Amino acid sequence: MSELDRADVIATLRQVIEPQSGQDIVTLGLVSGLVVRDANVGFAIEVAPEVAAQMEPVRKAAEEAVFAMPGVGSVTAVLTAERAAAAQPTERTQPAAHGPGHEHGAPQQSGPAGGLVPGVGSIVAVASGKGGVGKSTVSANLAVALARLGRRVGLLDADIYGPSMPRMLGITGKPSSPDGKQILPMENHGIKVMSMGFLVPEETPMIWRGPMVMGALEQMLRDVLWGELEILIVDMPPGTGDVQLTMAQRVPLAGAVIVSTPQDIALLDARKGLNMFRKVDVPVLGIVENMSQFVCPHCGERTDIFGHGGARAEAEKLGCGFLGEIPLHMQIREASDNGQPIVASAPESAQAQAYVDIAQRLADILGQGKARAAPKITVR
Ligand code: ADP
Repeated sequence: MSELDRADVIATLRQVIEPQSGQDIVTLGLVSGLVVRDANVGFAIEVAPEVAAQMEPVRKAAEEAVFAMPGVGSVTAVLTAERAAAAQPTERTQPAAHGPGHEHGAPQQSGPAGGLVPGVGSIVAVASGKGGVGKSTVSANLAVALARLGRRVGLLDADIYGPSMPRMLGITGKPSSPDGKQILPMENHGIKVMSMGFLVPEETPMIWRGPMVMGALEQMLRDVLWGELEILIVDMPPGTGDVQLTMAQRVPLAGAVIVSTPQDIALLDARKGLNMFRKVDVPVLGIVENMSQFVCPHCGERTDIFGHGGARAEAEKLGCGFLGEIPLHMQIREASDNGQPIVASAPESAQAQAYVDIAQRLADILGQGKARAAPKITVR
């Protein structure tokens, strides 16, 4: 089977007509985020939310047309509601950040996912149902642990409302841009890192509208010279609102990891996260239970202050994997606050080992192809 060609997919999509205008969906600029990976194709059709229901047959027709192409094994087409905001194309510009601009207008087929991150193997989102559960700490330590396991790893701090990676990873300064267009990621602890925090001072209030956040995220995927990466960890903004949903939809994710505390499990916040990814067909690779047990820094005694173990049971009930548990330990917080994640600063400690075990499980899952290498198979 010969390699699938993007141009052929676009040509096929040109035959899909939007009935209202009588024009094809490519000409109308509705197709974005086209990804062609091996025999798998994924793309989004951007529509105004109020016409989403009407556009479902068009989405289906587009999916079927591509599926009928020789050499296509799977197709995922999603409807996104970005279109309303996209009425002003300037929406892609980044408000406060001083990253490289785009002199050229955004090409129609180059949505966030479309050939966006060449050379990047699997993009894995780390998400949580709400803030403060240790999602960023897991992201940072997981990335460092994967690097220590010999993987080429990048970390994208998409927690745009409160980017914490510069502090957690001890990276200061601004990324450079050799050509004034693309940005070189920063590096520390063996991982490449990009964060809105490098571009915008930490104290800057970032009450951006959702689409602006998306624009910033797209830039961080599209314009950063990540180079060859096996795994790119994306630290998502906490919660399961529209911004998170749109991100999950528009970033070509191999899968998601959900971080939750025992209480969070009890309150079903983690379940919301899980449902959000399921809604957009992103496989949940597993749940991490954080602050699982309190470990006394003096005597090492473990106490189940929140009733640990709920995540494992919940993961089983929900039919997703369980990746492991991290104790509540002062050293973990101190290490993060000092810009030296525990996996880097005390790799032999039991606390660091907990992250390494999770990283190993994640690497195994990605290696077994249980995550999607490209958008998930949809056969209708
Ligand atoms: P989120 O990204 O979910 O908002 P953070 O990763 O920023 O959460 O963590 C919130 C706070 O909890 C931080 O001060 C962090 O150092 C601390 N923290 C996270 N995980 C642990 C843990 N297992 N033990 C102790 N402190 C932790």
